[in-house]
Amino acid sequence: MILLVKIKGILGFCQSKGCWNKSEYDIEIPTIKVTRHLCETHAQKIINSSTLKSVTYQNTIDFE
Ligand SMILES: [Zn+2]
Repeated sequence: MILLVKIKGILGFCQSKGCWNKSEYDIEIPTIKVTRHLCETHAQKIINSSTLKSVTYQNTIDFE
């Protein structure tokens, strides 16, 4: 199942289990030392249940 999670991340899907929404946030989870790509719903869940250290937004706009 770890491979599936990686593939979902590469393809731009939320990496939460069983969720196929488009990933919108890259959330670093220090306790398990990984970055997860998550949709807004699941990103919000993690934000609500943990202390955030940093959030990196994906580039959706090309800055000149
Ligand atoms: Zn999700």
